[in-house]
Amino acid sequence: MYEVTIKKSFSAAHVLPEIGGKCEALHGHNFAVEVTVAGPELDAQGMLIDFRVLKGWLNEILDGLDHKYLNDLEIFRGVNPSSEQVARHIHDRLSGRLAGSGLCLQGVTVWESDNARVAYRGVVP
Ligand SMILES: [Zn+2]
Repeated sequence: MYEVTIKKSFSAAHVLPEIGGKCEALHGHNFAVEVTVAGPELDAQGMLIDFRVLKGWLNEILDGLDHKYLNDLEIFRGVNPSSEQVARHIHDRLSGRLAGSGLCLQGVTVWESDNARVAYRGVVP
């Protein structure tokens, strides 16, 4: 099985009410997002997926989050826009892109600081 991982950053603000502590106040993060896809076969060029293609898909998704107040976004209506929810959102959007490609989205990791990250790996069948 081959794996390809890309990493991209974005900046955004959020408020996480009712969890206690500093995160209840408006604050921002420079989020870093890692995405890993996997598959058993390489294409005719000897690649699992062109980095540029995967980066393009991730850029499209992150453009909708970059320099935004996450609580105001429709995609987070009714949920706290936590790093976990950000990872789930990115995972679900990328899964749609990969449908039918033969590639598996292994997971999405969201770093909200140098020392703290979350990951979403989807539902294991
Ligand atoms: Zn935060």
